[in-house]
Amino acid sequence: MNHISAIHHITAITPSATENLAFYENVLGLRLVKQTVNFDDPYTYHLYYGDARGTPGTILTFFPWENLPQGRPGAGMVTAIAFAAPLRAMDFWNRRLRRLACDLQSGERFGDPVLRFTDPHGLPLELIGQSEPAATAHWHAGPIAAEHAIAGFHSATATLHHLTESKTLFSSLLGMTLLKQSDNRYRFASADTRAPGHFWDVVIDPQAPPGQQGGGTVHHIAFRTASDDDQLWWQSRLRTVGLGVTEVRDRKYFRSIYFNAPQRLLLEIATDGPGFGVDEEEAILGTRLRLPESYERMRPDIERRLPPLRPTSPSPIDTCRPIASTEALSSA
Ligand code: ZN
Repeated sequence: MNHISAIHHITAITPSATENLAFYENVLGLRLVKQTVNFDDPYTYHLYYGDARGTPGTILTFFPWENLPQGRPGAGMVTAIAFAAPLRAMDFWNRRLRRLACDLQSGERFGDPVLRFTDPHGLPLELIGQSEPAATAHWHAGPIAAEHAIAGFHSATATLHHLTESKTLFSSLLGMTLLKQSDNRYRFASADTRAPGHFWDVVIDPQAPPGQQGGGTVHHIAFRTASDDDQLWWQSRLRTVGLGVTEVRDRKYFRSIYFNAPQRLLLEIATDGPGFGVDEEEAILGTRLRLPESYERMRPDIERRLPPLRPTSPSPIDTCRPIASTEALSSA
């Protein structure tokens, strides 16, 4: 049987591309590894952040829909995104995020220290201290020294109403192991325990209101598969048990299939390759707008309509937008 090896990427929604870049690049020190457009909506950006190369398990992507109303994290959604950081860097991050992030709280989860905060648009984030974080490619030109830098994802948390169906999906079908439980939090681990993002938490809260997509919420999460053949195996396997799975979609940097888990949690299985080096050298990743061939003829129009990512006189981000309460934030 095949196993899911870890998280591939997580895609979230933001109401401002400019403010989004300022936070993830300057505050968290993630590298913008690709600026392209939403393949289904070419007049909006699709921004990809990651380690220096955009290694699977480090990739956080955003659909910036300008001025979109705030969403509400809730049941049937990924309600927190957790990055890993070296244990010895947690004091550094505590000081830094106290100044530069929103709603910082500290706690502990399964014995690891956790900092919980949000980005400027209310997206629930976490930083979890690890004695040996997974190996990732440090972005030397970025603002964070290697000894402190984020090392990809630690995990993500989904909030669901019931455990039974999701346990069957994640353990029996996707081959994850149920590792630990504390109160209503269940921690699964995927097969490749050296990969960034190999943990997956499910919080069961029968009372949680359904999530509402909008600014500051997660759109979907993708898990990794090594090859196109493995992806087709997954497509067939998931269809065999009655899940509606899409055709393979070419996302240029990887290929994707999508399906809904219980409570309409949107999941994707994405191939590791070909990766972000397919249309630009590693040294210049993310520095220029990249378009799929089919949109190149529209480039002048697209460039005119997209907001500047790095405006010459940026307006300061001086507000933290209030977030709706989420279970994931209220209990570490
Ligand atoms: Zn995706």
